[in-house]
Amino acid sequence: MSHTYLVQWTIKPKIAPRPWLACNRCRAARPFEPSGKTRLNANGRRLDAWLIYRCCSCDSTWNRPIFERRHIRDIDPHTLNALQTNDEAWIEKVSFDLDGLRRDAGQIEEFSEVHVQKTILNPAAESSPPLEIVLDLAMKTSLRTERLLSMELGLSRKRIAILEEAGRLSTAPSGKNALRRPVKDEMRITIDLAGEADRNAILSSAGP
Ligand SMILES: [Zn+2]
Repeated sequence: MSHTYLVQWTIKPKIAPRPWLACNRCRAARPFEPSGKTRLNANGRRLDAWLIYRCCSCDSTWNRPIFERRHIRDIDPHTLNALQTNDEAWIEKVSFDLDGLRRDAGQIEEFSEVHVQKTILNPAAESSPPLEIVLDLAMKTSLRTERLLSMELGLSRKRIAILEEAGRLSTAPSGKNALRRPVKDEMRITIDLAGEADRNAILSSAGP
């Protein structure tokens, strides 16, 4: 039995990363956004698949390769099925796959707006247990840990720094500047709020 008030924050970015590409029609570099559509081409037993992006200014398209000239036996059946059925959840996942996008686009615009869903995993006890937050990220985001805590718990950056310096706020994995880095899946943040006057308000913000 854990002696912390344990909550899980499931974090979902709101806007897919946008590659900046030279648009032929605009004759300039423009951000492109995923259209939510894919294209699948067969050439004998070899297949090509792309995710279609559109120029934000003129609707010109860019095909981001998912795979090219790949033999059908080398394609994961789940991926193939998702492409054949235009599986929305799968397309969304690929749209937010920053590492995949980096292979095909040099300049990428990232967004830090996220939706946070909070679930209580272990309720708060009567005494003053530390608050522990475990992050659940299906997709990468550029949002920094410090900013997430500031937004969701209503704590100023200065106060976060003071708590951290006093050893009352820690992250796992830890490391220098962990709070200044983007949030990570399965990251744990522990905050000791004993004696803080607004403890109840903070605990209440941490939960659903
Ligand atoms: Zn354009």
